[in-house]
Amino acid sequence: MTTAQAQKTAISLETTCENDCIFCRDARSLQRKGSSPASLLAALKDWIRQAADRGVRELEIGGSEPLNGPLLFALLDVAKQQGMKDITLITTGRKLKSMRLLRRLCSQGVTCFRIPIYGSKKRIHEAVTRTPGSFRDLIHALENLKRVEATTYLRCLALRCNQGDLSNLTRTVLKKFPQMHFGIADLKPTSESLIFYRNIFPGYRSLFPHLKKAYQCFKAARPLTPGFIDYFFSALLSFPFCLIDRIDPRFLKTQTAKKILRDKDFRDSDSSYSYARRCRPAPCRGCRYRDACPGLYTVSYLAYGEGDLFTHPKNG
Ligand code: SF4
Ligand code: SF4
Repeated sequence: MTTAQAQKTAISLETTCENDCIFCRDARSLQRKGSSPASLLAALKDWIRQAADRGVRELEIGGSEPLNGPLLFALLDVAKQQGMKDITLITTGRKLKSMRLLRRLCSQGVTCFRIPIYGSKKRIHEAVTRTPGSFRDLIHALENLKRVEATTYLRCLALRCNQGDLSNLTRTVLKKFPQMHFGIADLKPTSESLIFYRNIFPGYRSLFPHLKKAYQCFKAARPLTPGFIDYFFSALLSFPFCLIDRIDPRFLKTQTAKKILRDKDFRDSDSSYSYARRCRPAPCRGCRYRDACPGLYTVSYLAYGEGDLFTHPKNG
């Protein structure tokens, strides 16, 4: 279980996962310790009931691969009985290559799917998941989701091994799955090891031209629309603001950006990650975005130093 807020609650089933992503601490080895499935199920059912009693109508179910555990459908039953209207499943997507399973999930109340994608090609995606067949399964699943017109959010983390493909991936998603939401996000560190982080994350200076190209490609196809928050733009705000400013100096001034930054879920999004501490090193002191920007991940600062920032002086 993670958070409960006025509008939304989230539960984590912490099951095993078929993928073995390069940045993941859990991967295949994760074994739930402590509670038995029966007591966990009872606790999660209680959690959903209590949230529903408080008027919460949105539920998010995640935890490695929730489709692997024995609890999901029992929890969906409870969520339905308790009147949950929006149920999001965070999944690798691989099992959704089964249309039967997908239809069952939709009929049991799942209204939205959140799925990671790391590259436009097998070679790039599987360099991240380190699991042969994961790209083929994912594309098959996305075709199924497209057929049933399920609300789908695709998220790509910007990494050393896929940065050169970010604009290709953006183009591919826009072309093949135009009705899906797509965003590129900063990697939340999952370890304090600098070597580990450097091996996986390229640093903001290196990432900049690739992210800019992807941004331009997306914006040309789906321009910023006043009053409408596109997932691409909210994911972009996970990066340090000086990088965003360098990509598009106008973006942070838009109503869209300001609206996203006011959102409580957005501001709280780091809180459940123990290694996702942020810092504001010396150059941030004179930065015009200091008050709004959450800073950068401490491990990123330690790995790449302050020279990796595009500090924007207050009077610049
Ligand atoms: S899909 Fe998610 S849980 Fe599975 S290995 Fe990758 S990051 Fe970890
Ligand atoms: S506060 Fe620091 S990290 Fe944020 S935009 Fe300014 S220089 Fe970049």
